This record gives sequence, structure tokens and C-alpha cells, in this order.
Amino acid sequence: MTARVLIVDDILANVRLLQARLESEYFDVVTATNGLDALAICERERVDVVLLDVMMPGMDGFEVCRRLKASTQTLHIPVVMVTALDQAADKIQGLDSGADDFLTKPVDDIALVTRVKSLARLKMLNDEMLMRVSTSRQMGLSDEETVARILGDRPGRVLVVDDHPRSSSRVMSALAKVHEAYIEPDPQVALMHLAEQPFDLVVVALRMENSDGLRFCSQVRSLDRTRHLPILMMVDTGDEARLLRGLDMGVNDYLMRPVERHELLARVRTQIRRKRFSDYLRNQIRESVELSITDPLTGLHNRRYMERHLKTLIADAKRSGRSLSVLIADIDHFKAVNDTYGHDAGDTVLKEFSDRFRRYTRGVDLACRLGGEEFLIIMPDTDKGLAWQVGERVRECVASQGFRIAPGQEISVTASVGLATWEGEHDTSEALFKRADNALYAAKRRGRNQIVEERWAFGGGVR
Ligand code: GH3
Ligand code: MG
Ligand code: MG
Repeated sequence: MTARVLIVDDILANVRLLQARLESEYFDVVTATNGLDALAICERERVDVVLLDVMMPGMDGFEVCRRLKASTQTLHIPVVMVTALDQAADKIQGLDSGADDFLTKPVDDIALVTRVKSLARLKMLNDEMLMRVSTSRQMGLSDEETVARILGDRPGRVLVVDDHPRSSSRVMSALAKVHEAYIEPDPQVALMHLAEQPFDLVVVALRMENSDGLRFCSQVRSLDRTRHLPILMMVDTGDEARLLRGLDMGVNDYLMRPVERHELLARVRTQIRRKRFSDYLRNQIRESVELSITDPLTGLHNRRYMERHLKTLIADAKRSGRSLSVLIADIDHFKAVNDTYGHDAGDTVLKEFSDRFRRYTRGVDLACRLGGEEFLIIMPDTDKGLAWQVGERVRECVASQGFRIAPGQEISVTASVGLATWEGEHDTSEALFKRADNALYAAKRRGRNQIVEERWAFGGGVR
């Protein structure tokens, strides 16, 4: 991903400097030299992160930030305030106006790239979330409460790993006002806590008296349970080389010691948000993959997946002007198989049937088990003639060879097939499906072990 960064500074030399550094990291850069232009750009184009100078004539950075955060259109763009002096007052005012992070001039290279990357990632997740939320709203599926909870800022569970008493109590007192924070001086014990309890973030000192912060970070990254846990590292001046190793290792962000309270809280908030978004998205993806995949018995797609994709495939057919056919196959007298040989034998037949059935599908086809002993293939780019050939092969591959239900025991099985082909523009997935089903029903009526195509489904002779 190339993130798009907007640099806003009234002094052109500052703009050029930041621009050169970001472009050397392959960010896409846009620039503005005053607040109004910056606002106009954010409204007009995609911007993933804003670097905003505080001191500007006319509208200052605080006001620009306030306006960005006040508009629903630009509210979600992360803003980094660039302050001239390392002054707590500026940071407080920045936070009040909605800034997501701070950089102090002269801007340090590592800080610049780390912060921009971290916020760009957050923005990407945020965009993805909003897109999904609006899609699920359109589908009438949105659980408003869940979404509000994820997008909102709730307190998080934070583990601080630091064996320096003064530094850690300072961090703890700042965190505890907002979050549920725990301190653990021993990294090995901390790992156990992380493995056993849910945390949203770990804040770790790079330099500790009795252990190595980097080693701890690498362990956090390599354990399954904590692989995705955000890590915020506290670093001392002079430790930049090790900080870089940490960032390479997957540390998400860092703070210089002595840790400044507002900065700490801003970075903690960003990391927790990012964690929540990505957890949510990961879960959603997992869920949709599980839904999309397969019927457990046969390994074919399930009905729900098919229903979602039939619409997409029809839309594709509409766009490309190609044909599309649907085949439904149903095992004949399957109830008798169960009744005679038992349910397990029935299952064995279903599995074997699926394997044979699958053989006649191409990569672009979608084969699924509709339920029971009823199966379906959706075949893009397939006209009636070709569909008939596929149907005949399916019927034949079932009828021509016995099904082994136990060692040395084979039974013969047949299936009936119904076919329908998409008729263009005015045709719907429901109607298409229904016609294939009617055709199948006709095949059953006419004696089974045969194929019927939709137009022969009513009256008429057997084709
Ligand atoms: P027809 O030729 O008209 O399709 O007759 P049929 O007996 O195949 O159809 P019917 O719909 O009357 O019966 C289907 C049977 O399939 C009933 C049900 O017990 C059985 N069945 C459905 N799902 C499963 C399954 O997962 N495993 C097994 N073993 N049987 C199943
Ligand atoms: Mg049947
Ligand atoms: Mg049936």
C-alpha cells in the first residue's frame, strides 16, 4: 500500500524537507502551505495522513485540525501535529483539537516514518471498517452496537513491562486514569500473562536492568496468541540503533523517555484502536470464509455461499454478454439407501457422489451441496448445449459404476438432473433456479435417471 500524506506548512523549505524524506520511503505526498488549502484537499482527494504545522499565519494548525475533525467527511483522517517546541501546552491543545499524534521540530527521521506508517495503517483499517459497515447496513445486517463499540474509544487492557521503578510508576499513573493497566517487571512472567489473558497493548521498556526488551518483543511476535498484539516501546536517547531493530521486528510505535503523558495516551489510543479494528476484520474474514466454505460432509460449497455467488455470476454474465447455465442433480430413491443399508452407508454414497460430481466442474464453475442429496453446479459461459453434455456426463458417471458402501459391497445408484439457462437482462437468479428445480422435478416424474431441460419441464415430451 502506498499511503498518501498531506504536508501542511507555511514555510516551503519545511514542506520540501518532509516531502523528500517521505518520498524516499515511497509515500505519495501532497502539499499545502496554508490551512484553507489543506482543508480543501482533504475534502477533495484521498488523504491517509495529515502532517500539520501548528504555527501558520491566518488559520493555525489547531484550527485546521478542529475543522477536519468536525466534518464527517474528514473526521477519519489521522492528523499529526508538528510543533516547534517540545511543549506540553501545545500537546494538550493539540489533543483537544483532535490530533492523533505529535512530532517535534526538527523532525527526527525515525519518528516521522514510524508515526506516518502507524497512522496510515490505522487509516487503512478504518476505511475497511467503514466500508464493511456501510455494506452490511445496506444488507440490513449491521449490528449497530458492535460497530459503535469497535469504532468508539473504550478503555483498553494494557500491560506495562518495565523494571525501572520511577519510569514505570510514571507510566502507570498516566495510563490508569484512562485504561485498565498492569505492571510486570519480569518479561517471562509478562509473557505468561499475555498468553493467559486478553490484552489490547503491551508497553515495554527497551532497556531494563535485568532483561532485554528486544528479546521480549521478538517473543511476543513469535507466539501465536500474541502475534497481533500491538507493542509500544519506551526508548532512551542514544538507543536509536536498537530502536530500529525493534521496529524491524514489528514494534508498532515508540516513545522517548522520560515519557510524556499526553503523547503516551495519544499513542496508546491509536494502537488500541488499530488492534480492535484489525481483530474485528480478522474475525469477519474468518467467519465469512467458514460460511463460504463448505458443507462438512462432502467438502462442496454450501447453499448460502451459492446463493451469494449466483447473483455475482449473473451480474458477470450480464456484463460480458455470455451465457450461464445451472444444473441441479438429485439422487434417486436415496431414502431407500438409508433405509436398506443404514445412514452411514448413505453418507458414504453422498461423499462418493460428490467426488464424481466435482469431476465435471471446471475452475470457473461453482459446485455445491444444496442440502440432503441435492447438488448444484453453476456454469458460467455455458449454453444449453454444453450444459446438456455436462448433465449427461454427471448422470452417466453415477449410473455407470456402482457405489462401494463397504468392503466388497457395491450398490447401484442413479441421479436425476434438471437444467436451466439464463435468459438475459430480465431473468433473475431466483427464476433461473426455480426453472432448474422444475426441470429436475419433471425428470423425477418421468422415471428418474435422466436429464430434463427447462423448456421440456412442463407438458411436452422427454427430450
Ligand atoms: P427421489 O428419487 O424422489 O429424490 O427420492 P428420495 O428418496 O431420494 O428423496 P427424499 O427427499 O424422499 O429423501 C431424501 C433422503 O435423504 C431423506 C433423508 O433422510 C436423506 N438424507 C438427507 N441428508 C442426508 C445425509 O446427510 N446423510 C444421509 N445418510 N441421508 C440424508
Ligand atoms: Mg432424491
Ligand atoms: Mg430429495
